[in-house]
Amino acid sequence: MSSNREQDPFERSRVKTFDKMFDKDLEYQWHLDLYKKLCGTDLGDATPGGGRNRRVVVRRWPRAPNGAVIRELPPGYTTPSSTHLWGERLLDFFSFSRGTDDRLNHVVSTSSRLSAWMKANGETEYAKDEMIWANTEEPPRVRPAADIMEIINAKDLLIMMGSCGVSLPRELADADEDTDADPKPAAYPFDYKNYPDPWPLVPFSSNTPTLESQIPFHLLPETLIVHDPFRLLHARTPRDKDVDWTSVDDVTHKYKLDLTVDSIKENIALERSKIEEITKNATPVTVGISFYRSDERDSGDSNPTSVPGNAYKITVPPPPPPPISVPEAHLFLSPAHTVGIGNHSRVYHAEWDLPRSVFSKPKICNTCLEEAARKIISDKADSTLDDNSPGPNNFFNGSLDFREARTPKITFAYTKFSFKYADLEKSREQIHEDHMHTLEDEKTTSYIEYSGSMDAIHITTVPWYDPASSSPPPCSHFAQSSVCGSLPESPPPTAQVSVVAKLSLRGDNHMKREAVNYQRFGMQFSQHWTGYTLATPLHDPTPMGAITPVFYGYYSKEDSSDSDQYFSPILLLEDCGTPIEPDKLDFDDRQECAALVLRLHFHRWTQGSFWPRNILMQLGDHADFPLMKSANDRRFRLIDFGRAKCLMDAQEADYSRNDNLYQKYWDDERFDEKSAIGRVLEFHYPT
Ligand SMILES: [Zn+2]
Repeated sequence: MSSNREQDPFERSRVKTFDKMFDKDLEYQWHLDLYKKLCGTDLGDATPGGGRNRRVVVRRWPRAPNGAVIRELPPGYTTPSSTHLWGERLLDFFSFSRGTDDRLNHVVSTSSRLSAWMKANGETEYAKDEMIWANTEEPPRVRPAADIMEIINAKDLLIMMGSCGVSLPRELADADEDTDADPKPAAYPFDYKNYPDPWPLVPFSSNTPTLESQIPFHLLPETLIVHDPFRLLHARTPRDKDVDWTSVDDVTHKYKLDLTVDSIKENIALERSKIEEITKNATPVTVGISFYRSDERDSGDSNPTSVPGNAYKITVPPPPPPPISVPEAHLFLSPAHTVGIGNHSRVYHAEWDLPRSVFSKPKICNTCLEEAARKIISDKADSTLDDNSPGPNNFFNGSLDFREARTPKITFAYTKFSFKYADLEKSREQIHEDHMHTLEDEKTTSYIEYSGSMDAIHITTVPWYDPASSSPPPCSHFAQSSVCGSLPESPPPTAQVSVVAKLSLRGDNHMKREAVNYQRFGMQFSQHWTGYTLATPLHDPTPMGAITPVFYGYYSKEDSSDSDQYFSPILLLEDCGTPIEPDKLDFDDRQECAALVLRLHFHRWTQGSFWPRNILMQLGDHADFPLMKSANDRRFRLIDFGRAKCLMDAQEADYSRNDNLYQKYWDDERFDEKSAIGRVLEFHYPT
């Protein structure tokens, strides 16, 4: 196995550990053979084209010979969309024995759960390496999408340079014949005729970036102005795909955000009152601690470990308050950007124009803050030292100790495998010696320990920046550090992103139900997390990517009752790629797709429509900037939840009927869906 520089960024842990462990083909093969003997699955043949499945559980947690029987493991790390088994790295999954007889109860669990049981039951000495390893596991973290504001800024630069996008002819944009040479006041959002040149652009002329970040429910636009000159909102099959925006009159319709789930509405109100509260009682923000040491070299020691010094808490005024709501956004639809025509729906790529404030978070420059703090501290020091000649000790009221911490080397020992099968014993013997693998080298971390009192320094000279605005202009540090540097001119007050707009055929209720289901999923199913989860009956861990696309709102036409014409509601979703073709996926991919629906089941939902056309694949990781995305990174998502069902509803229905009928229906459906996995994904699926 060669280590590939273009490894999937998600799999950094795999590069760090798995490749290191099996850097020789011989050993890898040995493990595959071992796996086959234990699990009966031939991983060498599992993948079309002879490739191998690389996400396997290969470690075993050794048990003390007199250890107690493990009846139940304590809970370990989990995430809102994982199963009860989550591990940061593949090597955090272990098979283990509940009792001391190895042949009984081979079960798989994770570092965090196993080590917690061992600690609680005093079995910490036997699996020493594994305990140290478990200690190094990092808790789960959300993996956010690449900063969309940076992506938009980079795009704006290209547009300003004229290398991207086509300006809408001015007569179409209805420009005022304003010949004043005075600088124009900044345009209001959607006041398109006053946008700075070269905006506004012809819709779909600038290859808008795909929105992959979540927008909190309270910031979903309340009103959507839909630009639909090609009359797609009637959800009929479009006649012409060859369209020209500059040769048609724009037709707009007013749509309203239509959220129906009570808990979501309550959450929105709560979120808004929270922001109001925080804004009202805004207090200075602590941004860091600054140390100031004396230059003392009196001891003759050129590298003293302890010197007199001070520590200061650095505070700044609170950032400008975040938006509380988004009153308006615009959506552009074109038959030239059709995604799919289904039995119930029409799906289009749409351009979504939103106020920039939705995407931007205020930033403050740490380098400028550090410079400002240093200046204040050294002024203080100078005046103190001038006033009191005896020496610097009057100024310093603490001491700084420079220390180092070592984390030990972590090794992986093959010899810890203690299977009793006779034939296995033989092959183990052959490579018994010297197979200790270093998983992590010894590490030294330097840190400063401060003892003494701490003063606060409040800095008011460094401004907060709004990445969505060019005033105030960013400092040189920000200008250099952002993807595109600072923009030469002001961009317009809104920015376009690409989303998917789903329309429903007249008289069909699937999409309305789907919109409700997306609201009930909340944020949890569309979040990406670090690490892996194991969804039984699969034997192997799968990555903790999102299960569903991000939901960007459900919109209905305002005052549609007075018209005979049908206007479809609009479901806005993240664009997650194209349907999979199972025979082109490798074994790991198929298991990942299977895990999506199994994770949904674990969280008490069925999908109701598990077919390859409802599993999307996208190339490139959401956390990478567009230019950095790699076609090697395959990401999968389930779509189409018009038939999805929640166990909770079944339980409620049963409660009022006083029986178990609907729960049984739900469970039958879950079982059918589970049984269909192997057939749908065309692989030998464990049962
Ligand atoms: Zn700066």
